[in-house]
Amino acid sequence: MLDIQHLKKQFGKLTAVEDVSLQVAAGETVVLMGPSGCGKSTTIRTVNRLIEADGGSILFCGKNILEMNDEELRLVRKKIGFVFQQFNLIGRLTAEENVMLGLVMGGLPRELAQEKAREALRKVGMESHATHKSGEMSGGQQQRVGIARALAFEPELMLWDEPTASLDPILVREVLVVMEELAKYRSSAMLVVTHEIPFALHVADRIVLMEQGKIREEGIPSEVFVRPVSDIGKKYKELIE
Ligand code: ATP
Ligand code: MG
Repeated sequence: MLDIQHLKKQFGKLTAVEDVSLQVAAGETVVLMGPSGCGKSTTIRTVNRLIEADGGSILFCGKNILEMNDEELRLVRKKIGFVFQQFNLIGRLTAEENVMLGLVMGGLPRELAQEKAREALRKVGMESHATHKSGEMSGGQQQRVGIARALAFEPELMLWDEPTASLDPILVREVLVVMEELAKYRSSAMLVVTHEIPFALHVADRIVLMEQGKIREEGIPSEVFVRPVSDIGKKYKELIE
């Protein structure tokens, strides 16, 4: 599904990502972890070319995203959902209108867009708030609407960049529960950047640990967190104990 090979990104003299290779299979949930500044966001943002890579390849369903023209990229972005730390909803619009917006702009008839929006809001437990203004919602509710907005496109791959980082601990839980459900459902592959260790332990099929722009270790949670081989893995193990 997603096959990143030898990805490289420099910002001036700083090497943010150095020779990163990682794969996500269809339906699989891969959690990408590592200290602040190690290159997680840079890696994930190169996948839909919010950041242009300097080298390597990113195969999505067999085609190299890095070599796509604008039209190919536009089509592939419809298949890749992205959830950020910031919700970026339009506060004066309702939850449903926020979810519908991209669908309607993509050419979907209003009625069908509304149907898809309701379905997506149901998946995140926000159907009852469909007609509430998003600006009047809690952070957790807003993020769930943000997730619904991505889900409405029925993406084959979901990219998550610290979706709970700007939420208070109680709201973090409600968003993680939604993410866990989605992971279980396996309708899309998920690449998740998060600092939430319990989520990684219980939900990830695989964990990838990065440090200083490089992948140091990867494996199933019970290996990485129980018998780590890298220094960074050992640090995470200490955090759990
Ligand atoms: P965090 O956990 O804090 O979000 P991260 O692992 O996502 O960290 P990145 O945002 O990928 O880290 O940043 C990797 C490195 O690249 C950092 O040293 C950062 O300062 C640098 N960097 C990121 N974006 C830019 C940019 N647009 N210009 C210059 N340097 C950048
Ligand atoms: Mg980041």
